[in-house]
Amino acid sequence: MLKGKTALVTGSTSGIGLGIAKALAAQGANIMLNGFGDVDGPKAEVAALGVKVAYHGADMSKPGEIEAMMKFAAAEFGQVDILVNNAGIQHVARIENFPAEKWDAIIAINLSSAFHATRLALPAMQAADGGKGWGRIINLASVHGLVGSAEKSAYVAAKHGVVGLTKVTALENATSGVTCNAICPGWVLTPLVQKQVDARAEAGGISNEAAKQQLLGEKEPSMQFTTPEELGALAVFFCSPAGANIRGVAWNMDGGWTAQ
Ligand code: NAD
Repeated sequence: MLKGKTALVTGSTSGIGLGIAKALAAQGANIMLNGFGDVDGPKAEVAALGVKVAYHGADMSKPGEIEAMMKFAAAEFGQVDILVNNAGIQHVARIENFPAEKWDAIIAINLSSAFHATRLALPAMQAADGGKGWGRIINLASVHGLVGSAEKSAYVAAKHGVVGLTKVTALENATSGVTCNAICPGWVLTPLVQKQVDARAEAGGISNEAAKQQLLGEKEPSMQFTTPEELGALAVFFCSPAGANIRGVAWNMDGGWTAQ
């Protein structure tokens, strides 16, 4: 379905980003990966799906590096048709103890990076399909773009910002073939959440399994983690012809977290 298209997924060397990259590749999209840590493993996993794959190591907290990545993507693939703004970090502390530099880093990586990548990707998307436009911008927000949790001030502020940015991007392009939507997952068992499980296990002197059950029990009625594969399938749906008039939604996949 996405043969001939190119998807740039930020923060795709791990977790949800890698899951979405693989789901889009399975539909034939060429993939531009980004993120830190092991690159060869994720590159090989995507290439095994038979598509072209490239990587750029831009630090998403740095606008200049985001610009370099967008230029590199255009040179490698012609243009970016699907942009998934996914890179993100977390820090957990009460506001009075929250390090100011962590606040700045979370706002830069989880929110401002989506603005920069979007503003740089839009002109080519708007010009596509003979000027009618074609593009899909998918922002990884969170249930924390819809509701708050204690000790996550920067993350909740950034994710609410991402939901707002999603709506404005969708509205500014509403008469074109460029759509923008947000995905709002509940708990997904990636390295970002495993850290919180480990901290809980250590603080409570309980097993990792017990800590996971506690984490789910507090927020997620389904008592199940959402998976990167499920989130990948939702991203594919947004990119399908049926997604053409879905504009500016914040779509939760959260086991009932925000239904309460
Ligand atoms: P993860 O830690 O597994 O992956 C994060 C990715 O972002 C990695 O590839 C990492 O290298 C990359 N990254 C971090 N800082 C970066 C930077 N400065 N520049 C470039 N890349 C950077 O985390 P994840 O759980 O897969 O999270 C992905 C997104 O999903 C994040 O935006 C997160 O807020 C969101 N999310 C996660 C959950 C969850 O429960 N895991 C829930 C809701 C939303």
